[in-house]
Amino acid sequence: MNTISEVMTLKVAPPPLDAARWRKDFPVLRQTVHGKPLVYLDNAATTQKPQAVIDCERQYYETLNANIHRGVHDLSQRATEAYEAARGKVKRFVNAADSREIVFVRGATEAINLVAHSYGRRCIKAGDEIVLTEMEHHSNIVPWQLLCEQTGAELRVVPINDAGELMLDAFDKLMSPRTRLVAVAHVSNALGTINPLARIIETAHAFDAVVLVDGAQAAPHLQLDMQALDCDFYAFSGHKLYGPTGIGVLYGKAKLLDAMPPYQGGGDMISKVTFEKTLYNVLPYKFEAGTPNIAGVIALGAALDYVEQIGLDAIAAHEHDLLDYATDMARELPGMRLIGTAREKTGILAFVIDGMHPHDIGTILDREGVAIRTGHNCAMPVMDHFRIPATARASFALYNTREEIDALFAAIRKAMQMFG
Ligand code: PLP
Repeated sequence: MNTISEVMTLKVAPPPLDAARWRKDFPVLRQTVHGKPLVYLDNAATTQKPQAVIDCERQYYETLNANIHRGVHDLSQRATEAYEAARGKVKRFVNAADSREIVFVRGATEAINLVAHSYGRRCIKAGDEIVLTEMEHHSNIVPWQLLCEQTGAELRVVPINDAGELMLDAFDKLMSPRTRLVAVAHVSNALGTINPLARIIETAHAFDAVVLVDGAQAAPHLQLDMQALDCDFYAFSGHKLYGPTGIGVLYGKAKLLDAMPPYQGGGDMISKVTFEKTLYNVLPYKFEAGTPNIAGVIALGAALDYVEQIGLDAIAAHEHDLLDYATDMARELPGMRLIGTAREKTGILAFVIDGMHPHDIGTILDREGVAIRTGHNCAMPVMDHFRIPATARASFALYNTREEIDALFAAIRKAMQMFG
């Protein structure tokens, strides 16, 4: 028998998600490719957009288009209100303490570069160490390498095991009083691994190091809570979350953002400009120089509304069901090897097939209407770890169905026959 407090904290399974119903909201999925119904399984690269997001962006230009924060006229004020309302939605979505902690950027890449430039140049010096992991996307490697070249700091890399999980003993050993920053993916785009962030953040903070989380692959699948997570920075992209391209979010703790210098100079990020001295604007505007992607921000808000209407728990449970279904099929297929078999995973199925280059697999699948990603997935160190040049990667979203997994495997079997 569970005690009352255990019962209250037990997670109630969300009702099953009706993917067939929700996929009707995605016009792009209604087409055929090479005469076959499109089976879109490249969601880790970008997700498709629901009609509500498309309509929101169109309506913005039809009814609201004006520059924000500057005009006294009605249209400008309404555009500003809609823009700031979207910031409030993001704040709630990630459970940040304050909307000043939400900075709009172009995407996860720009968010990470912002921190590397602004925080990095101010706070990281020669002899300091930055800890990364072997499973990072290039977006969470190269900005830190650039910073090391500029400052004389050094990178330390946490290795992964053959299941594609971080080796936490090695992480503990790499941490030292010289560690100033830990940059880690919440979820690996190449493997699907969900990293144990609470454990990593607690360890890093014990060394007084700040933690930047690359959440590009987590935000569309996992419930986020910045206050519970206690990370210092969190980056994600709108386009992987059913929103438009060209818009993303940097969450940063207010006290860190406040102390950081601006990333770019220009309009909106200032409070007073003279040739002698410029005073910067308050948060978050200090980091939003120039006219932002106003339509993109507002449509990102519509994407968050859409996702919340379905519920992230229900989305995660549905994608997990698809992952289990696909993983069982993969394990029964001789010659197919999964890359990334962590216990905690999101809906990413990366694989190689004996005797076939992933690009050939991708090309044959495309002829069957099945869209997957092939290549190094912007994670070359992961490929090096597994001593492979590339993988084929199917990645799932809320609108995918078991029938589409069947279509994926029918196409894979066909490809194997062609090469067999
Ligand atoms: N980090 C991870 C884990 C990713 O998967 C991606 C995109 O694939 C990025 C960062 C970069 O995202 P964006 O290209 O939207 O800036």
